[in-house]
Amino acid sequence: MFAKENIRKILSSYGNPAIATICSHSALQIFAGAKQEGFRTIGICTKDRMETYRAFPHAAPDEFIIVEKFSDALKPEVQKELREKNAIIIPHGSFVEYLGPGRIEREFEVPIFGNRAVLGWESDREKSRLWLEKNAGLRMPAKVSPDKIDRLCIVKFDGAKGGRGYFFASDRNELDEGIRQRIESGMVSEEAAKTASLQEYVLGTRYYFHYFYTPLSGKGFPAGEGSVELLGIDRRDESNIDELHRLGMDGGELSKRKINLSYTVTGNQPAVIRESLLPAAFSDARKVVEASIKLFPPGIVGPFCLETVCTPNLEIVTFEVSARIVAGTNIYADGSQYSHLFFGKPVSMGQRIAQEIKIAIGKNMLEKVVY
Ligand code: ADP
Repeated sequence: MFAKENIRKILSSYGNPAIATICSHSALQIFAGAKQEGFRTIGICTKDRMETYRAFPHAAPDEFIIVEKFSDALKPEVQKELREKNAIIIPHGSFVEYLGPGRIEREFEVPIFGNRAVLGWESDREKSRLWLEKNAGLRMPAKVSPDKIDRLCIVKFDGAKGGRGYFFASDRNELDEGIRQRIESGMVSEEAAKTASLQEYVLGTRYYFHYFYTPLSGKGFPAGEGSVELLGIDRRDESNIDELHRLGMDGGELSKRKINLSYTVTGNQPAVIRESLLPAAFSDARKVVEASIKLFPPGIVGPFCLETVCTPNLEIVTFEVSARIVAGTNIYADGSQYSHLFFGKPVSMGQRIAQEIKIAIGKNMLEKVVY
């Protein structure tokens, strides 16, 4: 990993830090929040997107660094320019996707808000299970062996974007048949089929919790050295799975008509949960923070999201963690019901990130939140 010592040196050379990110995902919200807190903002952008990012004057970055493609942010000259402009990068989903967690950890020599070590833990299914289930003690969908299918399972393939090729199986025949069909139709390669993993399908309502862990303040729900704040909850629109019921067909008919399931996220909707679920939502977040501090100190810093299903028994089952700002927070550019209860005024996740950087600068503790 790019040594913390080097980041410390770069930070000590910074005058007035600026906030930078790639123009995608939640960048508008990040820039708007940074500007509200008085930061200069820099957008790493491709030419074709500039007009869009200028089209929201309140959120448009103060300056652009133009790249041909987003992964060019890794080029030494772009990194140098970012350092010269005193940039602190806010990582988001597209930033991690385009640059890759491994290369960000090893090669990206620009200060990043949050612990960059977390990226390797969230992107690896086995490691994230070790973190969430074994160390934090969260309930996750059970892993099911292909030889002992005793319940409805979702069959997943590694690296399947938008859940491409995922299907359901309740017994060995359905599993073998599903894999055979997918190889035959060319949707899944024989190689990818070997990575098929079976997970208990948890029936319930999906909720995506937006948390912020701060080691600098104890005002939220106590966790680790500081506290966790709940700043919002969303539900994702996933196409086409969310609308398939409108066809009124069962699984057999869908597959006869060669309709393939997809979980590609197309949008987000706001949500609140029953108030009696809040204690569990906070306690899960605390466990995740405290396990992260043990596994990869100083643990997760800043925004993260637990992706969950709430069962009819009101049990929260977590199927994934995103250890950075999630796009679902874009619903709340003007704050959410929960951030209102915390701040008494509208504060977005983007603004909360900028606030944390400002507080850290004020306390001379930037090193605690930037890695
Ligand atoms: P990806 O890694 O492509 O995001 P996920 O593993 O997150 O794929 O699954 C995509 C979607 O499938 C989720 O957003 C959720 O709607 C659904 N899903 C995944 N795992 C389960 C599960 N065990 N039980 C119920 N729904 C699930």
